[in-house]
Amino acid sequence: PSSVEVYLQKHEVTATGGDVPAPFMTFEDTGFPPEILREIQFAGFTSPTPIQAQTWPIALQNRDIVAIAKTGSGKTLGYLIPAFVHLKRRRNNPQNGPTVVVLSPTRELATQIQDEALKFGRSARVSCTCLYGGAPKVHQLKELERGTDIVVATPGRLNDILEMKRIDFRQVSLLVLDEADRMLDMGFEPQIRKIVNEIPPQRQTLMYTATWPKEVRKIAGDLLRNPVQVNIGNVD
Ligand code: ADP
Ligand code: MG
Repeated sequence: PSSVEVYLQKHEVTATGGDVPAPFMTFEDTGFPPEILREIQFAGFTSPTPIQAQTWPIALQNRDIVAIAKTGSGKTLGYLIPAFVHLKRRRNNPQNGPTVVVLSPTRELATQIQDEALKFGRSARVSCTCLYGGAPKVHQLKELERGTDIVVATPGRLNDILEMKRIDFRQVSLLVLDEADRMLDMGFEPQIRKIVNEIPPQRQTLMYTATWPKEVRKIAGDLLRNPVQVNIGNVD
């Protein structure tokens, strides 16, 4: 077996669904723009985590992904860095609304994702706004009005703001569902479906989940188009 095959086996990485590209074994393999590689280097990371190695080349092909992996596997940069590349390709004006929407179950997690987006997207000048419940809407709406590339949000608050027609989704072309299993456990499925209905259908969708029960399989089947399924570790 090749060194790549040994690596995939060692980390229990499997990817199924269509022609799956080889993983990026090193940061140089990724071909990420220098302003992104600079921030990764700055953080002191030496190589992609298994989920990053396997999902990055798939995401860069604009394909949908459902990734099943435990916490601590590096999922956040797994989708944020392809999102930065997506933004660079689209060159949309953030004044006209976000290009990337990330759904997250809690305020705390959403804030962590925003922090990571601002840290690793600094040289690429990526803007990111965080929307969550339990805080007044006024500041969040003001931030939205200034324009943003990425919105990271809990489903309840984002759905409220959509219903108020205070956010323009017409140029959204990348949707990320982080911790999808947890969002469903928290009862967010109706809000998730309403949000997704407002996003133009020609989008790319990336879904991350720690578990793979039938509720998650169902929503993945409804929201993703010919996804590549990536498993890290053993999944039943
Ligand atoms: P998950 O969402 O899968 O639970 P996170 O995205 O929160 O995991 O990442 C866990 C930690 O690993 C974070 O502190 C993150 O900055 C760090 N990390 C991410 N990618 C790498 C990498 N390639 N090398 C080293 N550390 C990384
Ligand atoms: Mg995470």
